[in-house]
Amino acid sequence: MASFDYDLFVIGGGSGGVRSGRVAAALGKKVAIAEEFRYGGTCVIRGCVPKKLYVYASQFTEHFEDAEGFGWSVGERTFDWQKLVKAKEKEITRLEGLYQKGLANAGAEILHTRAELTGPNTIRLIDSGKTVTAERIVIAVGGHPTPHDALPGHELCISSNEAFDLPELPKSIIIAGGGYIAVEFANIFHGLGVETTLIYRGKEILSRFDQDMRRGLHAAMEQKGIRILCEDLIQSVTKNADGRLTAETMKHGALVADQVMLALGRVPNTKGLGLEAAGVAVNERGAIIVDAFSRTSAPGIYALGDVTDRVQLTPVAIHEAMCFIETEYKGNPTSPDHDLIATAVFSQPEIGTVGLSEEAAAKKFQDLEIYRAEFRPMKATLSGRSEKTIMKLIVNAADRKVVGVHILGHEAGEMAQLLGITLKAGCTKDDFDRTMAVHPTATEELVTMYNPTYRVKNGEKVG
Ligand code: NDP
Repeated sequence: MASFDYDLFVIGGGSGGVRSGRVAAALGKKVAIAEEFRYGGTCVIRGCVPKKLYVYASQFTEHFEDAEGFGWSVGERTFDWQKLVKAKEKEITRLEGLYQKGLANAGAEILHTRAELTGPNTIRLIDSGKTVTAERIVIAVGGHPTPHDALPGHELCISSNEAFDLPELPKSIIIAGGGYIAVEFANIFHGLGVETTLIYRGKEILSRFDQDMRRGLHAAMEQKGIRILCEDLIQSVTKNADGRLTAETMKHGALVADQVMLALGRVPNTKGLGLEAAGVAVNERGAIIVDAFSRTSAPGIYALGDVTDRVQLTPVAIHEAMCFIETEYKGNPTSPDHDLIATAVFSQPEIGTVGLSEEAAAKKFQDLEIYRAEFRPMKATLSGRSEKTIMKLIVNAADRKVVGVHILGHEAGEMAQLLGITLKAGCTKDDFDRTMAVHPTATEELVTMYNPTYRVKNGEKVG
């Protein structure tokens, strides 16, 4: 039997890589993990975690305003961007340390180097030039923001990577894209006082979400003062003599701002990884092709998380890692379950969602009952804010199963997590109806909408 330096070598110290490396090591396997940048990966270092911290920072503007309706007088407010960046850095450094501590405690060897494949079971450590062998290899190298090379002047633009650490807060920003990142950052920058323009190629932002959520959020963002330009594109970006940038657009002429941010999707980090040498096949987007058990085309090599371009979410990468462990080290073949993934957009207000949008459900089921509530949240009665909360249940009339829940409103992300359990459990509308309301909350609407607002039959809205 061939002998290897390691039982498992993990390339990439993000969510999927760290989880698979740590658990395999805790099971007594000889594990090494290599990371070329910082442990924690996109989520911890320049994604979910710092994003959420910045969302909190950006919400204070409205908190201060709202406080007055409740009798408070809030004095002069100032905001210090550098202080926020520093505080964020301290927190992500702490988390980075915890990730490494977890690996070390489990007995994994932690390497700070880029690693590339040189053959089926061999990996070259770029910093030392050393080659090591492993029985199994996990590739969990994630992705990066698409640089959009086709755009003249793209090199003048920033991506989410740079947005977290800008030396100073811009006075104005143009953000291209209509997905999670573009929408979340538009809200963050606007909340921090930056004049913000969002430019999106489609008819309505957040293309894969329920129409009600998309329209509702669009209206709420515009009401706050974010400029949203749909069905338009940036055609070029140039630098002005004063250092500001001009974005030439297709329909809205020249827009000038301090920064232009591109949030046009993310691409897998597979370039130069030695995949060909190892016999690992990729698709036309450069994502590693895997089977239902995260196995690549090369025996003994597995891929997890964003690099496979299945569902680009941290909990999905972690779940895929746990399935890999079950399958390979516990004799319990388990394939990742990508159905009914609850998700949130940390916009302001948030979107929390699980299951099918009305549009997707209408394509799948003949007869739908739609329960929809739109109301002013209780806090807004005294704060005077005119924001609306929207809640929507999509029910398949044939078996009464709730096939989609969509919420636009404060803490909708927290709600989506719990609703994810109910949909996963296959709850019907009757289960919702016989659940006692928690009063006074916004979510009590979800269990007190007794009559359908309308139905959708064979794709047509009726009644
Ligand atoms: P998304 O896929 O969400 O959005 C990409 C956006 O860019 C879409 O609006 C897309 O338009 C647009 N786009 C793509 N190519 C072009 C182009 N050539 N010209 C103009 N517009 C273009 O990607 P993000 O970058 O926002 O985020 C990447 C991933 O990260 C997400 O898919 C998500 O899974 C994850 N993420 C999750 C978060 C969360 O859970 N809260 C937060 C941030 C990221 P169109 O819709 O028309 O295709």
